Amino acid sequence: MKGIRITRPRGVSDVFPNATPAWQELDLRFRRLFHGFGFGEVRTPMFEHTDLFLRGVGADTDIVAKEMYSFADRAGRSLTLRPEATAGVVRAYLEGGLSAAPQPVKLYYVNAPMFRYDRPAVDRYRQFHQSGAELFGASGPAADAEVIALAHALIREFGLGQAEVCINSIGCSTCRPAYRQTLLEYYRPHIATMCADCQSRYERNPLRLLDCKVPADASLATGAPSAIDSLCRDCAEHFSQVQMLLSAAGVAYQVDPGIVRGLDYYTRTVFEVVAGTAGSLCGGGRYDGLVEALGGPPTPAVGFAVGVERLLSAMERAGVKMPKAEAPEVFLAAEGETQRLSAFRLAAALRGEGLTVETDLMDRGLRAQLRHAARLGVPYVAVLTDPAEAGVIALRDMRRGTQATVRPNEIAPIVRVGGSQPH
Ligand SMILES: [Zn+2]
Ligand SMILES: [Zn+2]
Repeated sequence: MKGIRITRPRGVSDVFPNATPAWQELDLRFRRLFHGFGFGEVRTPMFEHTDLFLRGVGADTDIVAKEMYSFADRAGRSLTLRPEATAGVVRAYLEGGLSAAPQPVKLYYVNAPMFRYDRPAVDRYRQFHQSGAELFGASGPAADAEVIALAHALIREFGLGQAEVCINSIGCSTCRPAYRQTLLEYYRPHIATMCADCQSRYERNPLRLLDCKVPADASLATGAPSAIDSLCRDCAEHFSQVQMLLSAAGVAYQVDPGIVRGLDYYTRTVFEVVAGTAGSLCGGGRYDGLVEALGGPPTPAVGFAVGVERLLSAMERAGVKMPKAEAPEVFLAAEGETQRLSAFRLAAALRGEGLTVETDLMDRGLRAQLRHAARLGVPYVAVLTDPAEAGVIALRDMRRGTQATVRPNEIAPIVRVGGSQPH
């Protein structure tokens, strides 16, 4: 009976060996940069209690209202595949006792899968990946500047040289109520013509009016009063220190009053890293209210996340060179039962020496093995043919088109140097 073929669910993707080297390279370089800034890796579960995201992301956000993969487990608990990383990292910070450790605590995650039931589109998947960092315990502007400099370095690292930081300050619990009032007054005459989402934002969270993507509302947002003009003295001082430190660190930035994080626990600095036509690749900010909102002691925090799929496709469009899948270093071609056995034994020995080695698994004839090796792009082919001459091997240099007779223990040194053959 023939089975029914099952396709992958909508909005997810497979990554094949021709594309995984780019992911591995990103992984490596992300880690190097995070470690360079003194961050340590945290790994949190892919699912959490649904309540964590209701409280930690906000019940009136699109993410929570429309995009979560929530399900009841077999015991009837409501669990959710994480739609973002910060809430889980904060939970782990508290649960792991890190709030009692020396501060600041600096954590990162890399190429971590996230899940949102979003309408699939170019670069938008239902399982996507983020890398990011969260810094806890430091309230001063240097923490903001360090995190922003890290985000900027990440985007620049990948050959997106025109990366620029856009920053804004959305104030604190002292100054935001006044700004909120100013916004309400600005938007009041337009309520009737705004989109339905904005009408509900007007009631519940006016800061998020500035985030609307509907063209008419977006142009209305450009004329809206800026949060920077309503900052209290402490917030204004903090914001100017952040800018001074960014300049000191050589980070190119501009102030963009249009950047907001419309949740109550976001405070002061918010930022994005924008790379030319690729747009915003990274977003973050200070969230001094979140740890407390999730049941911890009052704890300042600042962080960001990078969308990995968007970063990869921006790099591709920018022509950034990334590693490709590599051919094995040696192919062992053999004819006859004795020689096949020798080849199998030799493959094990060479792999033990750290070489990447392939040998025939298809029972191909010698000529077909050589054709296959050429198709793979293998630089060296060792041919084991003559049982009478046990231990003597013909080693072909496929790039130079030369051939030499060698002993088994000579193969690894020759391949490793990638060239010079003995006479
Ligand atoms: Zn303030
Ligand atoms: Zn709108």
